[in-house]
Amino acid sequence: MTNNISIPSMPKVIDLRVTKTCNMSCPFCFGAQSSTRISFDRMLRFLAWAYEQGTRSVVITGGEPSLYPDISALLPALHSIGYQIVFMSNGLFWDNVVLRDSVLENTSWLALPLESSSALIHNSMRLGDGDHYHRIINLLSALKGMRCPPKLRISTVVTKVNYSSIMDIPQVLPILPNTWKLYQLCCPAPNSDFYKQNSISSSSFVDLLESIRMQYRDSPFTVSFTAETDRDGQYLFLDPDGCLRTIRNNRESSICSILSAPAAILRSVQDSVDLQRIEANFNSCFGSADPHPPSASDPGQEQRYNSKSYQKA
Ligand code: SF4
Repeated sequence: MTNNISIPSMPKVIDLRVTKTCNMSCPFCFGAQSSTRISFDRMLRFLAWAYEQGTRSVVITGGEPSLYPDISALLPALHSIGYQIVFMSNGLFWDNVVLRDSVLENTSWLALPLESSSALIHNSMRLGDGDHYHRIINLLSALKGMRCPPKLRISTVVTKVNYSSIMDIPQVLPILPNTWKLYQLCCPAPNSDFYKQNSISSSSFVDLLESIRMQYRDSPFTVSFTAETDRDGQYLFLDPDGCLRTIRNNRESSICSILSAPAAILRSVQDSVDLQRIEANFNSCFGSADPHPPSASDPGQEQRYNSKSYQKA
C-alpha cells in the first residue's frame, strides 16, 4: 500500500523572535540578543518556504513582539500562508487598538505571563511597567468579556522569589487559561546573578508541580511545564538577524542562517534539533502544532520537499 504523506523535513513549529527590543526589563529574560535585523520580505520568504517543508505553527515572540515595526503586516501575512499563530507578549500592546484587533483576528493563542498571585511579588519580577500585575489582570478581564476570546496560555517562571505564591495564581485570574505553563528558572546569559540568587532545585520544582496537579486536578486547564534541563533540542528559534538557533547543553547555540541554501538549512536543522521533541513541547501547551493535517489524498503533499520556490525568491 502506498502512503503518500511525507515526513516533514522542517519542525512543525518555529519560535519567531522578531525583535530584541522590549519595554520591560525582567531579570530572567531569555529573549533574542541580536540587534541586527534581516528584511521583512526575506523573513517572510523563508517562512513561506518553511511552510512548504512542513512547519505549521509559529510562536511570535521577542523581546516584545508588538514592538517589531512590521508586526501589523506580519500577522496577516503568516495567517494567509496558513500558519497557526501563538502571540507571546508581555501584554502591554493591549491599549493599541489597531494591533489588538490584528492579534485577535489573526492569532489562535495569546500567551501572557503571571508570576504570582501577589501584585507585589509579580511586580518585583516583571520590571519596567510599575504595576504590570494589574495590566495583566485587566487584560484578562477584557478577554472574559469577549464573545470569542483567543485561547489563552498563562506562563509562570518558578524562582525562590515567587515559589510560595504560585499555587494560588488560578484563583486571582478573571478568566481561566486553556494552559498554565510553569518554567523552572534557567540561566540567561545577560543576568546570571538573578539566577544564582533565585534558582530552585529540580526537586523543589517537581514538588510544586505535584502540589499544583493535586490541587487543580478537576480544573479545566492543562498544567504544562519545562524543567531547566528539558530544553535541549526542544526549540528552533529564528532570531531577528536571520540566524536559526537551538538549545544545546542548556545553552543557546547557532545552527545556520536562513540566507543559506535550502538544502544546507534542512541538513543543519535536522542535525541539530529533535523534530518530535519540538512538536511534543508545543503540543503540551497549545494543543496541536498541526491543527489541520492534510488527508493522504491531498495533492499538496507532493510539494513538501520542493524547495524551488525558496531558491527562486
Ligand atoms: S517582557 Fe519578556 S522579553 Fe521583555 S524583558 Fe521581560 S521576559 Fe524579556
